[in-house]
Amino acid sequence: MSTIRLKRGVKLRHLKPQIVLAVVAAHAVRPTGDTWITSAADGHHAARSLHYTGNAVDLRIRDLNSAEVSEWAYLIKEMLGEDFDVVVEPDHIHLEYDTKDTRREMDFAAADSRLA
Ligand SMILES: [Zn+2]
Repeated sequence: MSTIRLKRGVKLRHLKPQIVLAVVAAHAVRPTGDTWITSAADGHHAARSLHYTGNAVDLRIRDLNSAEVSEWAYLIKEMLGEDFDVVVEPDHIHLEYDTKDTRREMDFAAADSRLA
């Protein structure tokens, strides 16, 4: 039986229910193996990354071949629709919930960190 797993050190702080749903849905269509979340609100991402507000996760792909990665990314995108972005990176799939609201939330978070 395959399952959803967390890489050690992954911080789920602020993780949004939309992303939880997206990961569950992504796992359901994974070609084979476990779905590993390798990054959420942790790690080093672009300054305005949706990771920091809990609207993005990275999913491990190192156990899949390139055809499987492409198929998986396609199926995730098909299932989740236009509010989600699915980006195949060299060593992971970046999955984010990207709407006007989540972009606005990130602007507020960025403003907060400037004041801190
Ligand atoms: Zn990412």
